[in-house]
Amino acid sequence: MKKVLVLEDEASIRGFIVINLSRAGYTVVEAESGEEALEKLRENPDARVALLDVMLPGIDGFEVCRRIRATNTKIGIIMLTARAQEMDKVTGLMTGADDYVTKPFSPAELTARVDALFRRTGGDEQTAAGEIRQAPFLLNTRNRTLEKNGERIKLTQVEYSIMKTFMENPGKALSREEILDMVWGRDYFGELKIVDVNIRRLRLKIEDNVQNPTYITTVWGYGYKWGF
Ligand code: CA
Repeated sequence: MKKVLVLEDEASIRGFIVINLSRAGYTVVEAESGEEALEKLRENPDARVALLDVMLPGIDGFEVCRRIRATNTKIGIIMLTARAQEMDKVTGLMTGADDYVTKPFSPAELTARVDALFRRTGGDEQTAAGEIRQAPFLLNTRNRTLEKNGERIKLTQVEYSIMKTFMENPGKALSREEILDMVWGRDYFGELKIVDVNIRRLRLKIEDNVQNPTYITTVWGYGYKWGF
């Protein structure tokens, strides 16, 4: 389970973060105050990343960061800072944090930062073990094979790369440009249509009903999403 703690006193911003991280496949533990965040972390020692708002009533985010770091060096910490805050103060006090995100931020930016930190802190155990399991699929990243309900599905290397990209980003809408970059590489000079063609073929192999795809869904005018 990919668990993240979110400390933010403003309910609307907290809700926005929780929705977007949940969509990206994270289990989110919420806290409204620094004190509550420290307590929730004691109850959830398996949380691998913490998002800490700086401006809070009571103890501020920097102090929460310092207290977490006093006993926990492994957890990844991202500070949420307001644009108005001086960068000097942020960087000066950021010694215990791994990263920071400036408000206002987009869902894509937020999940990208959390994903990156999760990978750096070794929280992505499924990938490290050489397998990504998302029932009914099992992707073996060592032999580059895919099974559905225990049965091997024959994929081309490109189809495999697309599956891996999707399964590493569950619930996240990926633009056709992003898929092209991740699968074919940034140097690839070609048309986006190649993404659609490959996904159409991949759907024939993995979907229960190609007329009504439920694993790879279309995000109209944007791209595709791996989600259930
Ligand atoms: Ca705040």
